[in-house]
Amino acid sequence: MKKQIDILIIGAGISGSVLAERYAKAGKKVLIIEKRDHIAGNCYDYIDENNILVSKYGAHLFHTNEEEVWEYINRFNNWYPWEHKVIARVDDKTVPIPVNITTVNTLFNTNISTEAEMKAWLDAHKSDIPNPENGEEAVLSKVGPVLYDKMFKHYTKKQWDKYPIELDASVLNRIPVRYNYDDRYFSDKYQALPEGGYTKVFEKILDHPNIDVLLNIDYFDVQDEYSGYEKIFYTGPIDRFFEFKHSLIEKLEYRSINFVSETRDQEYFQENSVVNYPGIEVPYTRIVEYKHFGNQKSDKTTIVKEFTVDEGDPYYPVPNPRNQEIYSKYKEEADKLEDVYFVGRLANYKYFNMDQAFKNALDLFKELEPTFVEEESETTNEVV
Ligand code: UDP
Repeated sequence: MKKQIDILIIGAGISGSVLAERYAKAGKKVLIIEKRDHIAGNCYDYIDENNILVSKYGAHLFHTNEEEVWEYINRFNNWYPWEHKVIARVDDKTVPIPVNITTVNTLFNTNISTEAEMKAWLDAHKSDIPNPENGEEAVLSKVGPVLYDKMFKHYTKKQWDKYPIELDASVLNRIPVRYNYDDRYFSDKYQALPEGGYTKVFEKILDHPNIDVLLNIDYFDVQDEYSGYEKIFYTGPIDRFFEFKHSLIEKLEYRSINFVSETRDQEYFQENSVVNYPGIEVPYTRIVEYKHFGNQKSDKTTIVKEFTVDEGDPYYPVPNPRNQEIYSKYKEEADKLEDVYFVGRLANYKYFNMDQAFKNALDLFKELEPTFVEEESETTNEVV
């Protein structure tokens, strides 16, 4: 007999898993259909042949200022503090990114030591652009043309196959500029990694008798069999959903990453977890050495070079006015559907960080189920 299912969710990443957990707690029977052979979406990680916890789809560094999200994720695992740092190889030198006092002193042989001096240096170099309208203007208005050229222009071209001028200012504004020595990549209040990895977190989120997960199933192959639910949550690329019906609307652009993994027979390959290569001398954007995360031990090391490409699993929406316009046409179609909700980075075509994806899913649930009240004991990670 076919099991009674109330809620169908397509995709077992952050958005799908959070909604599954919420609806399961609210007493609904939930089925998740996942195309890949694993849960956790792009957060998926595993122990590799060198006994190192690695992420299959690139390093994931959790950071948030959202109390609600921080409280929520702590229900499912222990998270240890981890302040991510990134260095970049520029002109045969190694500098912190985001740009800070050390970055400028190293690249320009200056002797800046105070915030006032750093501000004066930036004021003297940055371009006067009051309302930056694209990625290039955003960077020029903060650091000026020399640092733009050395650290942002070519990295962005490698990452997006577009120059910053072809992208929204928001893309480049993800990277702040520091007037001090702060070399952390993020400034958020909470910065942490899950003990044992992200996959464990998702296992715990989905560990509820009301949740079933079917892996290796592409929803579009089986959608006729899966109908008649109270609600459907779709977390895949929005244009794929409408591909069959609305081929007149153009396809949205996405960027994918080709992860090239190598084992090195040495303790460490590089001095930091992530080293960026913003220049044109190498084709990859960065090298990630996973054993640095959580100070893992192994005789060998795994490094992963990231080559950003057009084809492959869509990881990044490409934020610019043209894509936004195409997206709005899909959104119009999506809004016409009853009881089908589009949620997450690919379905909303938004460059969400992890915490924003959690928040978005939690907010959607609250909006749809305003009367749901969680029992007090369920919000604490019980220790027995
Ligand atoms: N970026 C850059 N140089 C760098 C790092 C980042 O030009 O060394 C630009 C680039 O356009 C990138 C954007 O800043 O896409 C945002 O970087 P972030 O590290 O947030 O990207 P993600 O971690 O999502 O790949």
